[in-house]
Amino acid sequence: MASERPDVLVLGGGFAGLACAAALAEGGRRVLVLEKKPRLGGRAYSFGDPGVGEVDNGQHLFMACYRATRRFLKTIGTEDRLEIFPDVAVDYAESGGGRDRLDCPSWLPAPWHLAVGLLRLRGVPARDKAALLGFDQALKAMKKGPVPDGVERLTVREWLTGLGISRTFQTRFFDPAAIGILNETPERASAAGFVQALREMFFGGASGSRFALARVGLSELYTDAARAFVEARGGRVISTAKAAGLIAADGRVRGVVTDMGSRFEAEHVVSTLPPWDLKKLDLPAALRGPWEDLSPAPIVGATLKLDRPVMSERFIGLLGTETHWVFNKTRIQGLTGSGQVISVVISGAHAQVGRSPDAILAAMTRDLSACLPDFAKAKVSAAKLVKEPFATLSPVPGAEAKRPEPGSGMPGFSFAGDWTRTGLPATIESACASAFAAASRLTKGSGTK
Ligand SMILES: Cc1cc2nc3c(=O)[nH]c(=O)nc-3n(C[C@H](O)[C@H](O)[C@H](O)COP(=O)(O)OP(=O)(O)OC[C@H]3O[C@@H](n4cnc5c(N)ncnc54)[C@H](O)[C@@H]3O)c2cc1C
Repeated sequence: MASERPDVLVLGGGFAGLACAAALAEGGRRVLVLEKKPRLGGRAYSFGDPGVGEVDNGQHLFMACYRATRRFLKTIGTEDRLEIFPDVAVDYAESGGGRDRLDCPSWLPAPWHLAVGLLRLRGVPARDKAALLGFDQALKAMKKGPVPDGVERLTVREWLTGLGISRTFQTRFFDPAAIGILNETPERASAAGFVQALREMFFGGASGSRFALARVGLSELYTDAARAFVEARGGRVISTAKAAGLIAADGRVRGVVTDMGSRFEAEHVVSTLPPWDLKKLDLPAALRGPWEDLSPAPIVGATLKLDRPVMSERFIGLLGTETHWVFNKTRIQGLTGSGQVISVVISGAHAQVGRSPDAILAAMTRDLSACLPDFAKAKVSAAKLVKEPFATLSPVPGAEAKRPEPGSGMPGFSFAGDWTRTGLPATIESACASAFAAASRLTKGSGTK
């Protein structure tokens, strides 16, 4: 294959690039993946840390309704490395040790299981819960298709307040959900992405709203298996190969040139590069567009090794703190040994990403000590902080219209990646859905062949 011209050249070796390459290879196409970094995995990878052990670049939460992601993992033979929980439940902790729980009966059909879960929340007064009726109607009216422009222009905060959801209800359920899903605060995020995610959870079947987590480090979940799958079908994956521009002639993209001057020609190029990387390439004018204005939102996360267990749950949402989520890696990954390994997440971390690691760890320690009484007694024996300034697409009002359709582009070229307009927030599921959409448009010949 090395000297053979590939049918399709896929740019980027993250979830989207590898899912697209696997789908095309499965369909009999000769695929070449070019990845600029020495490792695969893009924005979802893991690495060994001398102090803490195997560390994800940031904790990733999956859902059972991640259909494209599960299809990809099934194709490459690693779906069993994802643990899907039997119940739909989220525990919350707040300063002073107060607790709450979203507990949705799994025997009820959607959306009733979630409705009952919300009605059971202890920290939200009963009178506030009456607003769920209006919320349910508003969501039902947007059950399918594009989210109306009028809603897209609103922030999550404006949309929820307009539906009569009290600030207490927002703070105790909607805000943590929005920040977790959209990686932006409710004041910054457009309501569109929230609606897209909520309708999957509320109307996509009760089993779809179950959470899932990787039992292994993120890289072990998919990167090596995807590479092996592609290579076993005559494809090739080259890392440390940074695309610098597209080769175009006669109104058609014909290949890619790297920053080292290597030229790779192919019948078609699928780019899964995030917009902030793709726009730096030498591109034909036809591909330039409003998508170049899309901007990223940061996440900061830390993995901490503790001398004792501080939580028994798989994960807990922290209410009213700078830190948003804490995950029990010992339980999730079945780690042995004394003590406990936890991972801590601050999403939409615009304020934190410029701070020193010590300052961020101090803020996390303060929040964990306030919310988890056992943490205050624990000794942190090792900590690894990862800042991801370019974690996800920032889904501010106006962003949705700038996301190109997956599989669109120009003759010889397709856009893909989590940030393309899949009808989902820019998540792993969006990355995989974009990959299958681009691959299928190519296979069916309905794309920009
Ligand atoms: C800390 C963190 C936490 C997250 N949490 C969640 C979560 O809980 N749930 C969830 O669903 N999603 C989460 N996400 C988002 C998720 O990681 C992304 O949506 C997904 O990984 C994007 O995949 P992708 O393939 O579209 O893009 P990427 O992973 O960015 O892949 C693009 C690839 O292109 C490569 N590349 C860039 N430029 C070039 C070039 N010039 N030439 C060649 N290659 C190039 C990059 O190195 C990269 O490998 C999180 C992200 C982060 C960072």
